Amino acid sequence: MQLLREVVYRTPLTTRFRGLDVRDGLLLRGDAGWGELSPFWDYDDVESATWLRAAREAADVGFPAPVRDRVPVNVTVPAVGPERAREIVLASGGCRTAKVKVAQRDRSADGRPGALEPLEAEEARVAAVRAALDEVHGPGVGAIRVDANGGWSTDEALARIPVLDAAAGGLEYVEQPCATVPELAAVRRRLRSPVPVAADESIRRAADPLRVVREDAADVVVLKVQPLGGVRACLDLAEQVGLPVVVSSALESSVGLAAGVVLAAALPELPYACGLATSQLLVHDVVADPLLPVDGALPVRRPAPDATALAAAEPDPATRDRWLARYSRLAGLLDGVPA
Ligand SMILES: [Mg+2]
Repeated sequence: MQLLREVVYRTPLTTRFRGLDVRDGLLLRGDAGWGELSPFWDYDDVESATWLRAAREAADVGFPAPVRDRVPVNVTVPAVGPERAREIVLASGGCRTAKVKVAQRDRSADGRPGALEPLEAEEARVAAVRAALDEVHGPGVGAIRVDANGGWSTDEALARIPVLDAAAGGLEYVEQPCATVPELAAVRRRLRSPVPVAADESIRRAADPLRVVREDAADVVVLKVQPLGGVRACLDLAEQVGLPVVVSSALESSVGLAAGVVLAAALPELPYACGLATSQLLVHDVVADPLLPVDGALPVRRPAPDATALAAAEPDPATRDRWLARYSRLAGLLDGVPA
């Protein structure tokens, strides 16, 4: 079956993530291969147009050459109980690094953020992950990082990070502990026993991604290909930032993940495992051979959509129409013509 130049997919997620139970997006085919356009629905057209730049780079231009042929990746542990956290680590495909979500809030019925998860629950999850990593790889071999998604105040971060650092047997870093750049800088300055701070949202949703560098607010930066407009845009930004880079996904199908893998494989240095092992979260990926970790790493390859896999991820007509309309508006924005 010949696939069209634009294909929409929609799949349930195996675990609720970022408040989502399903993931959908549009795949674009060009002379250089397939690209993915999948900004989340809460992103407006102006912000989403940058995501289309990334899809067009993949489809029309192609990718820079890799300098490595495998990319170590982390397993992501959402805000689950200790038993489930252990299972996730054991089923991770040999990942030696775990990213544990913290600073999660339940949501009240009207959708507003509710109470912060108790520190004891976070501590128990981190300790369970440490025990599971030790069980698989030997004592102290695995690394643990926590990601707060900007959910703590400075005081909450300063109170919780040392406890989680102890539960982890030493945290590799804490990702986006607070929402703003000055708060990140304050946490970094005021932590008595230092834990490196990684900036994620402060880079990818910021008007000025270099502000974290000027304000000494981070030790590590997290880059995502789609929100930052493509692999080359990320390589340029990495050079300007001059800090270690962790490449993460935006919960894409393996078509979008491949761009992240290429970025990670093209960076001159890659000291940390990347957040690209997220195909596991999709019930239906769009390729026959999804980018899944083997011995804790992804191979550097670019799988193409497969008709059988796409049939399982077929969207309802309303979702398809919504994506095609969005694509046309975003293309109009980039090309300077009204959609
Ligand atoms: Mg993050």
